[in-house]
Amino acid sequence: MLTIGLAMLQGARHEHMHSLFQAAKSLEVEIEIRELRKSSDIEGIDALVLPGGESTAMRIASRSEQLYSGLWKLIEDDKIPVLGTCAGAILLSQQGLIDTKIERNAFGRQRESFQSEIDVELNGQSKFQGVFIRAPRFTQGSKSPIAWLENEIVGVLENNIMALTFHPELTNDFRFHAWLLNKASQ
Ligand code: GLN
Repeated sequence: MLTIGLAMLQGARHEHMHSLFQAAKSLEVEIEIRELRKSSDIEGIDALVLPGGESTAMRIASRSEQLYSGLWKLIEDDKIPVLGTCAGAILLSQQGLIDTKIERNAFGRQRESFQSEIDVELNGQSKFQGVFIRAPRFTQGSKSPIAWLENEIVGVLENNIMALTFHPELTNDFRFHAWLLNKASQ
């Protein structure tokens, strides 16, 4: 049984639950999802999902409960696998947990939110439906890209940390969530 921690302070959480359960079903692994609201919820998680939403609101919501400070320490100390989408990727970069730098809300107004086919490298090259919502952009330092919108890097994998500027949880393609579960069971 794997325990997957899902940061619940703000943003798109329930879609991640659905994707995690679907991925677990396809991999035939048993999971429980732990809803993380305060630092005492963290102990014993095998992997972590940091959802998208509004990164500033997430930081403010975390202050009283110390959730993020506990999570950053866990990621550094225990190197658990992490899937951070959109605002989750922003937090990982701002925190220096990935080397890749990121700029918030970096697509122009007209293209603030859009869908586009992207290329991903997950057990080989393939296509994925990229859903971008007021997405950030990686600006420099992407040494280990795993997703591209045309020539632009939109996903990186650094050690055990997957940071995506798009939202795989808003599609019916559960491969990124399956990646997390596979990593957690290794
Ligand atoms: N614009 C948000 C931010 O800067 C991120 C958007 C998202 O997570 N969909 O935090």
